[in-house]
Amino acid sequence: MANWQNWSGRLSSKPDQLSFIYSEDQAAALAKASTQAGKSLRAVGAGHSHKELVVDGDIIADLQALSGVLSVDTDQGTAWVGGGSKIHTLGPALHRHGLALANQGDIDQQSISGATATGTHGTGATLQNLSTRVTGARIALANGDVVECSAQQNSELWQASRLHLGAFGLITALQLDCLPSYRLQERSWTLPLGDLLADLNDLIANNRHCEFFWYPQTDSANLKVINPTDAPAQYPLGGEGERCAWNFEVLPNHRPHLHTEMEYSVPADQGPPCMQAIQSLLNNTFTDVRWPVEYRTLAADDVWLSTAYQRDTVTISVHQDVNLPDADYYRACEEIFLDFDGRPHWGKANFLSGDQLAKQHAKWADWWRVRDSVDPEETFLNPYMKAIRP
Ligand SMILES: Cc1cc2nc3c(=O)[nH]c(=O)nc-3n(C[C@H](O)[C@H](O)[C@H](O)COP(=O)(O)OP(=O)(O)OC[C@H]3O[C@@H](n4cnc5c(N)ncnc54)[C@H](O)[C@@H]3O)c2cc1C
Repeated sequence: MANWQNWSGRLSSKPDQLSFIYSEDQAAALAKASTQAGKSLRAVGAGHSHKELVVDGDIIADLQALSGVLSVDTDQGTAWVGGGSKIHTLGPALHRHGLALANQGDIDQQSISGATATGTHGTGATLQNLSTRVTGARIALANGDVVECSAQQNSELWQASRLHLGAFGLITALQLDCLPSYRLQERSWTLPLGDLLADLNDLIANNRHCEFFWYPQTDSANLKVINPTDAPAQYPLGGEGERCAWNFEVLPNHRPHLHTEMEYSVPADQGPPCMQAIQSLLNNTFTDVRWPVEYRTLAADDVWLSTAYQRDTVTISVHQDVNLPDADYYRACEEIFLDFDGRPHWGKANFLSGDQLAKQHAKWADWWRVRDSVDPEETFLNPYMKAIRP
């Protein structure tokens, strides 16, 4: 028996086996053997999810050895990368080929397959989540076959598995749609939340990236905007809020303090009133919470289980120290988010049932149909996934 825990330590598991994968053949053999033995198999990326996506199965497979840029097509602006690649390794490696990710999240410690599993995103009203960048995938399926999928080949499998929740198989490689390398200039400043909300539409429209953190029990928000620049990179890099360098040097941040997090995506025009409702909750009821509320934007997409599926989106995240109780706070926040037609981030805390998730995601039944077609024995479902399945 092995021990595993996620980044925050809040979730832990004792699988029969923790298996390190060094080749696609090994991944395929493990998938087939797990199915034949009737055991459940879940992959782990960097363990940065707050939701029970990795825990409580029989076998956990760690694919971080399948890492790096495998090939690039500079004409198409695409790159095949190992499924276990950590995002922070991809920035410099893609840049050597003149390519870059269009966007990334607050940190770059996740694996690429883990990040696309949950629709991980950064901020930017014209920018979509990482799952939308997946133009191809190689997946070791439950029967031991390795299948390649894209818009041209096994297209339904590709469409469904761009946001895959670890439920289709072991992803050994992903093809990503990239941009030509670009540099970014970051600025950040503190201002009263009321002033910020009054200017928010312009700030979002006039900056490639715009986000803010509001600190409960204060009137202050910390705003950050990031834009493309032709200015040369400035080294040594400045601190967060003052960097000017390549995209992969400016976008990620250091977030060392262990916490839990709930995040919901609401329709873009519902962002400000939803934020104000969360602010009232913190001002009037959860007056002890000191962790900030984060506000970001995300462009509409066509990824089946994306929280931004067919709608421009604002994401609002609430946090709590990992050693403090969070359930009452998060349940109260969730009630507000649901009032604003919110959809939960797949990798963060939520209390929704499968029926509730089904109502939020128009392609829910299709996603499960395609998933079940490649894993009829449910090898790749853990108890959480079984609990929410139709
Ligand atoms: C400090 C911190 C900051 C964060 N910032 C952001 C942010 O800015 N934006 C945002 O959207 N989210 C953010 N998140 C959430 C995080 O990006 C997601 O939870 C993401 O899914 C974690 O990636 P991971 O590599 O750690 O995957 P894991 O949590 O290890 O796994 C996630 C899912 O991917 C599956 N999986 C992983 N690898 C494979 C593979 N090779 N094949 C098949 N399935 C696989 C797992 O089975 C699981 O279902 C943050 C989380 C933390 C802790």
